[in-house]
Amino acid sequence: APSVFWFRRDLRLQDNPALLAAAAAAAGDDGVVPLFVVDPSLWGPAGRTRRAYLSASLRALDAALQDRGGRLVVRAGDPVQVVTDVAREVGAASVHASSDFGPYGRERDTRVADALATHGIPLERLGSPYAVAPGTLQTGSGSPYQIFTPFARAWHDHGWREPAEAPPDSTRWASVTGRGFPDEAPPDGLELPDAGEDAAHQRWQEFLERVADYATDRDRPGVDGTSRMSPHLKWGEIHPRTLLADLARLRSEGAATYRTELAWRDFYADVLWHRPDSARDYYKSELAAMAYDDPDGELFAAWAEGRTGYPIVDAGMRQLRAVGWMHNRVRMITASFLVKDLHIEWQHGARHFMRWLADADLSSNQHGWQWTAGSGTDASPYFRVFNPTTQGKKFDPDGSYVRRWVPELADVDDRHVHDPSAAPGGPPAGYPAPVVDHAEERREALARYEEVRR
Ligand code: FAD
Repeated sequence: APSVFWFRRDLRLQDNPALLAAAAAAAGDDGVVPLFVVDPSLWGPAGRTRRAYLSASLRALDAALQDRGGRLVVRAGDPVQVVTDVAREVGAASVHASSDFGPYGRERDTRVADALATHGIPLERLGSPYAVAPGTLQTGSGSPYQIFTPFARAWHDHGWREPAEAPPDSTRWASVTGRGFPDEAPPDGLELPDAGEDAAHQRWQEFLERVADYATDRDRPGVDGTSRMSPHLKWGEIHPRTLLADLARLRSEGAATYRTELAWRDFYADVLWHRPDSARDYYKSELAAMAYDDPDGELFAAWAEGRTGYPIVDAGMRQLRAVGWMHNRVRMITASFLVKDLHIEWQHGARHFMRWLADADLSSNQHGWQWTAGSGTDASPYFRVFNPTTQGKKFDPDGSYVRRWVPELADVDDRHVHDPSAAPGGPPAGYPAPVVDHAEERREALARYEEVRR
């Protein structure tokens, strides 16, 4: 009998143990039916950037399958219905998928497994999108890790398997009719990177040439110092163990630092696995009582559209809208600005990021926001307030990043490019004066913090 392979966040053929299991399970000539389900409860809220990236990634996956004589079957609907229908239409003996550890995915998979079980078809789940699956590591006393450094040590000691092979060339691919390949275009003017497994490997190979400089360049938003692997990792176009296997062959400090960043990704997935509520609620509840301002006003719009009058904040928010990605340092600065200068609750900013990022990922995003808001596990303490002007001067010393994304600043001299209202003639034409006074808002933020601490 054939098997069904249900693709989700693992849009690749290589190094996909669950896909190998599906190929092994398909008896004789019956083959594997490769399926993707466009689930309305994920598709709608994803936002156009993520939907467009996913559409492109599915096309790339279909092309890779066509090279091997297959076709990706895409159907829209509730996975409980669609997966069961497809499995029954083809007479599948089993359905295979990579395990999902997110709050929605876990619950959905239980429902799908139950529905399949009524027809005697097992849902076989294997592997994870992480080097070490969430829930695997525990402290000496048997509790989840709440602090990153000991987690990263345990993560490294635990290790991971070697990358798996692609399914053998002899694998037969079966098919049923699909209905509706999604074809969403990105928001106007937004330029996405190439999607798909080949693009992921190509970008990774290019980055390996630069990884030795990663430790020094990664905090410079004006330098192409990071890997930009995040959308590829998000959609599982490449697995982190493939990256880790390459890094293990390198001795540079850059390679070691990069490995630690991948540990952050696994750490936050582990935190979310243990505390699914932390996708919405404060991980540390004491900050939930803090007074916050109205999220629907003009200040939120100024932040979202990149016209706060703080160059590094505006550059980041415009980069997000232009390419569906933002540099990590600037994610921290823009998030801090929303929470501590504009006094708007982190969930509103997190939702905006989820809508615009091609790499939008529930665990990394929500916990990145909670880190900044001071409410996360192992977070930056609330009272440490980023100064957007000094952050800009420190991490973008020549102003190349802000000039790239805020063209109004092109002719402002280096000394004033992060503080254009202090320039002799004031800010250049068309660029706003600061919407708030940072020193004042910092005092205000700390006063509100003192209120909840008491
Ligand atoms: P690199 O510096 O090349 O890092 C390599 C990989 O390590 C990344 O692709 C990512 O998978 C992982 N990584 C690096 N830093 C982190 C981190 N702090 N937390 C978790 N994983 C990390 N990352 C997302 O993938 N999706 C998100 O939605 C997301 N939202 C964020 C929101 C905020 C407020 C903050 C502060 C950070 C967020 N991050 C998110 C983490 C980080 O900013 C991005 O992973 C990184 O900028 C992606 O670019 P890169 O691939 O070039 O990173």
